[in-house]
Formats: sequence, structure tokens, C-alpha cells
Amino acid sequence: MTVTVPCPFCSTLNRVDLDRVDDTPRCGQCSRPILLDRPLAVTDATFEQVIGASEVPVVVDFYADWCGPCKVMAPVLDQVAHDRQGEVLVLKLDTDRNPVTAGQFNVRSIPTLIVFERGREVARESGAMPRGHLDALLARATS
Ligand SMILES: [Zn+2]
Repeated sequence: MTVTVPCPFCSTLNRVDLDRVDDTPRCGQCSRPILLDRPLAVTDATFEQVIGASEVPVVVDFYADWCGPCKVMAPVLDQVAHDRQGEVLVLKLDTDRNPVTAGQFNVRSIPTLIVFERGREVARESGAMPRGHLDALLARATS
């Protein structure tokens, strides 16, 4: 299974083999580590490619910095990214800085969590939710 993710430092898209994620993959451009045990930021520029290329289910947190419930949700997403590394891809998208993608998916309230499987939306829910609820949402992706 592979994913294509933006380097957190230089934004270059890198293809990462999830079976080798314990070897700490490094960015082909800047050589810094690409850590998948935490949510990765996507933008209007990278969203489509990252979602489309992922061979594992993806959950995207549509959030904004000023949003209180988003701050409640953040540690839950950190936990899922950490515990389910290599199994699901956890992404976050700042809706203020990336209005095109937020508009395209008709995100009206934040946080909104959308689960994608092979580039297709399979589940979504708005509002902060506990860990078990997020796992249940992810379970709607069948792979
Ligand atoms: Zn890089």
C-alpha cells in the first residue's frame, strides 16, 4: 500500500510505501523525515492528488484556527494518526487558507470530517466527536 503526501517542510509530494513507514521515509527533495504518525496538512494545491493516490482510507479534518470545537477535535485526530499509522491517512485542511477545496466539498460548518476511499467520499460528519465515533466513521470505508 502506498500514499502520496506533501512534505511538511517543503510541500513536495512524495510517494511513501506504508510497509516501510517504520524506516522513517524521507522527502526526495529536502531529505527531511516524513512522519505519518500525525495529521498532515493539505492545501488547495495538493488535496486532489493526495486523496486520489491514497491506497488506504483517508480522513480529512476541515478546520480553522479560530474554531473552538476544532481545537477539541485536534488531539483525537492526533491519536488516530498515531495509533493507526500505515492503516489510515489523517489529513487536515485549513478552510480559511484553502477556500477552493472547502467550497468544492460544500463544507459549511467546522470541524467537518470527511472520509475518502480511493478518491471517493464515503462518509462525513460535522462537529467535534469522541475517538470511538471517529473510528466508526472510518469503518465505513471498506478497505
Ligand atoms: Zn521536503
